Amino acid sequence: MIRQKPADRKAARIRIGLLGRFALLAFALLAGVAGLAYWAVNDFSERQSAHFTARLAQERADSVAALAAEILSADPLGAERAGQQAAARFPDGAGMIASPGGEILAAWGSSQALLDGANAQAPILFGDLVLGEVRLAQQYEGASGFSSAESLRIVAQMAAVLALAMALIGLLVRHVTGPIRRLTQFAEQLSPQTLASRIMIRTGDELETLADSVNDMVGRLGESMRRVQQLAFIDAMTGLPNQERLRHDIDAAIDRRREDGGNCGLAIISFDRLARTVETLGRTGGDELIMALAQRLNDAVSSADANVRILESREHPAVLAKISESEFAVLLPSLGEESDFERFVQLIVAPFGRPFEHRETRVTLGCNVGAACLPRDAAEADLGLRHCRMALTAARNASQPMRFFTPSLDRAAIERLTLEREMRVAIEANQFRAHFQPKVCLRTGRIIGAEALARWNRPDGISVGPVRFIPLAEEAGMIGPIAEAVLRDACWKAAGWLREGLDMSVAVNVSAIQLGDDRFPALVRRLLDQSGLRPESLELEITESVAMDDPERAMRMVGPLRELGVRFAIDDFGTGHSSLAALTRLPFDVLKIDQSFVRCLSTDKQSVSIIETILALAVSLNFESVAEGVETELEAEFLRRRGCPVAQGYHYGKPMPPLEFLATLRAAEERRAQRIAL
Ligand code: C2E
Ligand code: MG
Ligand code: MG
Repeated sequence: MIRQKPADRKAARIRIGLLGRFALLAFALLAGVAGLAYWAVNDFSERQSAHFTARLAQERADSVAALAAEILSADPLGAERAGQQAAARFPDGAGMIASPGGEILAAWGSSQALLDGANAQAPILFGDLVLGEVRLAQQYEGASGFSSAESLRIVAQMAAVLALAMALIGLLVRHVTGPIRRLTQFAEQLSPQTLASRIMIRTGDELETLADSVNDMVGRLGESMRRVQQLAFIDAMTGLPNQERLRHDIDAAIDRRREDGGNCGLAIISFDRLARTVETLGRTGGDELIMALAQRLNDAVSSADANVRILESREHPAVLAKISESEFAVLLPSLGEESDFERFVQLIVAPFGRPFEHRETRVTLGCNVGAACLPRDAAEADLGLRHCRMALTAARNASQPMRFFTPSLDRAAIERLTLEREMRVAIEANQFRAHFQPKVCLRTGRIIGAEALARWNRPDGISVGPVRFIPLAEEAGMIGPIAEAVLRDACWKAAGWLREGLDMSVAVNVSAIQLGDDRFPALVRRLLDQSGLRPESLELEITESVAMDDPERAMRMVGPLRELGVRFAIDDFGTGHSSLAALTRLPFDVLKIDQSFVRCLSTDKQSVSIIETILALAVSLNFESVAEGVETELEAEFLRRRGCPVAQGYHYGKPMPPLEFLATLRAAEERRAQRIAL
């Protein structure tokens, strides 16, 4: 005998299951309708036969009465005796036939006597004659057709049967559709929060299979949701919450603090040079460094939290999140005092004085922190993060390790936004131009060149200096067009002076962002070509801090342009952290001594020594040197005696518009020519 496998049996049961339910439903429906029809037909035929019987009886009574009348006319006293049965007629038209014992054999009409029932007496009449008397032994219950009461009863009975049938059908329908309804409800109520729930349907049929499939599907969906949430809310590399997740946590903490009237603390920790260090270490090395950094930060946050918020730290621990390539953020969900938070942040950043050991390299990462107390400083997460960022920028600009948000920072930010908007318009309107400051040969006193310095010539006549707009332009990504405008001006003007016989070199400042832009060398080449300026007449100035920050990058950019003949200068020398090794490797031509040393010449002996050292260094490394910020003849004399070849400063002229510079140049040339003629 072949045994059916359990799976086959289940499949068979499932096939029969739903069919069986529908068959049962159909059977119940048919049975209900058939029963109703049978009862109605049966009842109807019974009543019809009773009706006919009554009519026959009436006719028979009439003939009995006629017979009695006949007998009466022949024998007035023998009429009653003559009939085995007696027929009675009532004055209201009703009548009956009764046996001699008084039992009603048939009746018609609805006379009161008939209806009164047993022991009522009815006269046997013929016209006005009373032939005798019938005594009724029972109540009349016959029917002679359908009375309205009977009709009502029939309708009520039919309604009852119908209601019963409907209830039965309803029950069955409910039984069949119930699981479907539950499935539908389950599907409707599904949400990301309920993806862990399951529906239990054990009907042993297709519905059970469907429910199992739905459960499988919901399980897979839940898993996918978890993955999506991970990707959306977790930083893939460190496993820390990301900015999106942090936003939720901040808003939740703010809501709780609103209830108890307290504040929570939010801080952004930004590691300077992290992105560049990661880039230098390569992919694997960079990832390892970031993971080590996140781990150290995480440990510091946990221990600082337990240290500062001894009790609350367990219920709502501090949240550490990674919010950008080089920024982390910490949320302290509750605060006692602002000073607690300051202490907390200090504890977090303290371990970063220690360098990271990475494959025989030691990496030290400095950081700045911008902090805010919420909801005091911002009513929601986005604003809180923005305010922390403002505080961070302020800390960075002031070279402070940490800064708390204050409303004045917000005002400054609004001013910055206004300035940014105006600058965009100014770029379109070509309002950024170069002014020129003379560079003088200390030996001959001749103007041998000029430094092009950016100016924003506003339509209201105000000329804005670069310190106001260059850092903002760099941050807002607008430095490109501004620098190009200055470089173009410088090349065209210097080429023009040359055509006039005034042999002049021109120096142009290059920002860190331009230095990192691969298109910069091509731009310089193009502008030289277009203006016709010899590359040797162009000098590009890179500040010491930018050049030393990434000497490799500086060399990559400087190399090809220098081959072309362009000269390079290290600007503001003495303020950065030049390593002698880097200095010898950098293919530069000029060292520009920072003006801060020149300014202190008369007051500070150290400045004298520094200038002397820089001049000696320049000679030994074969650099030309230029002293910046020369304001007095005394300073000029000092520099001349120490062998400084070139000077630049207000003593010789402030930065001026090109026409004014040309006039100054011509006047100086004329004076020189007159001196020679004498
Ligand atoms: P810098 O390149 O060191 O330029 C010298 C600055 O010192 C200029 O300020 C100049 O006006 C000022 N200066 C010159 N002689 C004297 C003096 O005797 N006394 C005093 N007190 N100051 C003197 P400025 O024009 O405000 O420029 C400031 C800085 O802005 C520049 O310093 C340079 O780093 C930057 N900069 C200017 N133009 C540009 C540009 O086109 N691109 C970039 N990236 N930076 C620029
Ligand atoms: Mg300069
Ligand atoms: Mg300078």
